[in-house]
Amino acid sequence: MKKRILLLAGGQSGEHEVSLMSARSVLSALPRDQFDVTPVVISKQGRWLPPTETQRALESGEAPTGGDLVLHRAASAEGYDAVFPLLHGPMGEDGTVQGLLTLAGIPFVGSGVLGSAVSMDKIMTKQVLASAGIPQVAWALAVRREWQQDPHAVRERAAQLGYPLFVKPANLGSSVGISKVARAEDLDGALNLAFSLDRRVILEAMTAHKPREVEVGILGNDAPIASPVGELRFDADFYDYETKYTEGRASMHIPAPLPPEVAEQIRTLALRAFRALDCAGLARVDFFYVEETGELLLNEVNTMPGFTTTSMYPKLFEAAGLNYSALVTRLVELALEDR
Ligand code: ATP
Ligand code: MG
Ligand code: MG
Ligand code: MG
Repeated sequence: MKKRILLLAGGQSGEHEVSLMSARSVLSALPRDQFDVTPVVISKQGRWLPPTETQRALESGEAPTGGDLVLHRAASAEGYDAVFPLLHGPMGEDGTVQGLLTLAGIPFVGSGVLGSAVSMDKIMTKQVLASAGIPQVAWALAVRREWQQDPHAVRERAAQLGYPLFVKPANLGSSVGISKVARAEDLDGALNLAFSLDRRVILEAMTAHKPREVEVGILGNDAPIASPVGELRFDADFYDYETKYTEGRASMHIPAPLPPEVAEQIRTLALRAFRALDCAGLARVDFFYVEETGELLLNEVNTMPGFTTTSMYPKLFEAAGLNYSALVTRLVELALEDR
């Protein structure tokens, strides 16, 4: 019998449009002889759009207002065998939707509440990975209220990390709200931007040399496997939103030209991080590799990485012999697996 799949896309985060792109690819790749797929686009206001409005949003690339309230839809979602929450960022990749689905008793693709919430939050991720002995850049936390009441304390913390440094909202993706701050004079602007998007902000040191950016895909539940390692190259100061989503600005190299022992170390560390964070289903684990020193630093774990047919995660598994359609089928199987 065909499995009934609810494919959630869009969502309330700054990565709404990116999610719609991913969803279009997944929608056309899930084999129709095995799956009966119902796409539902969640608008930026958090409303779950009915089928006709969903169709319109998928075609036009943006969601209008209107639709049902989230809880109402979840209650009537009991008829689905599994949900594919193809949502990036807050209110989708961060455990909120996963909590709703857990309450509704519907299996879903990807990490549960804990793995999603911890991996979305760059500060919690750093703390968990530090306790697992995984190497990372030096970092510091700042909270909005503190920035408003005692900005000097936050500026001090930044000075201790040294410039240039990165300022990031704790819970976001696609580089939204991230600044590379070259000089102390530019710190306030970067903090104001990050705090306009999140209550908590992370300050991160940079490595002495510009690092190479390498990524690995993880697939599985409690017996996960790692893909070959890929590398991103781009002609920009850092991998910002524009560079990520403008055609031709970045290139992917799979497998990454690395000494075999470095690639193996990346895969081992990524699997360790996946387990430490209690991830499930899939994750893309991103690293900095400092060629000059041989240093390998884990940057972040994305529990619902970009998922168009040309995105890094599916490309990594394609290189491992699993094509896009087989990959999404496998993800649904993993969602339905007894654990
Ligand atoms: P994604 O879209 O992959 O979820 P994100 O929004 O979570 O990304 P990061 O991956 O943390 O953001 O940072 C975006 C980019 O900024 C990185 O790919 C890298 O180019 C640069 N960057 C971030 N932190 C650092 C750092 N500490 N040192 C050097 N470069 C960094
Ligand atoms: Mg991220
Ligand atoms: Mg992300
Ligand atoms: Mg990233």
